[in-house]
Amino acid sequence: MRSPHDLCLLCQNSKAVKRNSHIIPRFLTKSMIINDAKKQSYLIDVRKQPNKSKIVQDSAKLDYILCPHCESYFGILEKRITKSPLQKIRNQIPPKDVEFVTNAGGLTHVRLHHSDILSFHLFWLSILWRCSISTEELFKGVKLEPGFEESLRIALLNYKSTREAEFSKLIQAHESTLPFVRYVLLTPKTLGKRSNGIVAIIKSKAPLHVLALNEYWLAMSNDPADEFINNLNEISNRTQEMNSVKIWILDKEAWDNVHRDQTARLVNLHFQHLKDQEHHNS
Ligand SMILES: [Zn+2]
Repeated sequence: MRSPHDLCLLCQNSKAVKRNSHIIPRFLTKSMIINDAKKQSYLIDVRKQPNKSKIVQDSAKLDYILCPHCESYFGILEKRITKSPLQKIRNQIPPKDVEFVTNAGGLTHVRLHHSDILSFHLFWLSILWRCSISTEELFKGVKLEPGFEESLRIALLNYKSTREAEFSKLIQAHESTLPFVRYVLLTPKTLGKRSNGIVAIIKSKAPLHVLALNEYWLAMSNDPADEFINNLNEISNRTQEMNSVKIWILDKEAWDNVHRDQTARLVNLHFQHLKDQEHHNS
């Protein structure tokens, strides 16, 4: 158990007195956390007995992992992302720093050309790092190789700022010092029923980590020879690429397939088990 006397896991310098640090930023999960008598949000651990699932009211939070400065730095990264075209790509009128590109196979992606590609990379890397240092039930299955986890920590720390203006200066002035990572981001063109979201670890075996983050599906690898990511070469982003990033936009059917194949299956199994149990008990 961590205590407020422990050091912050990011800067390893100040006391980790912050409570309730989110592992997955709340803006990514808030649409799926429901608190109503008829609908509820569940935390399901498929490695355990399905009946051990918990009803959750908020996304995973941890106490005493960060100091207040590092916590506000992550807040700045989040703010950048929510202000960026990421939030606008589902709008009818594309913002001017976004280009829609459709490939020969009919798949569409958005290419973001906005000035802070670096903060975009940093944000997704911060999620991977947060999952790796987390001891929280849902994320403890994500464990990066120690050397890679440390290189992520140092890269994140290089841009640490507690004010937005300071952060802007840092990312303008510095060359990228990010470790090599390739990642693929998928998102649906339109959001379906808001209550169908899922946060799950689809696969996490170094070097490949695949996470379902409600409205996004994120696959990351730090191995240039990783077969999975190589197969997705055309749609992947590299942390060394500073001109643009890609987000792949799936139509409803394709997105549902991703969900059905990868994540909803877990939930269905769980509910089937609950039904069987109910049947058994009555
Ligand atoms: Zn700190």
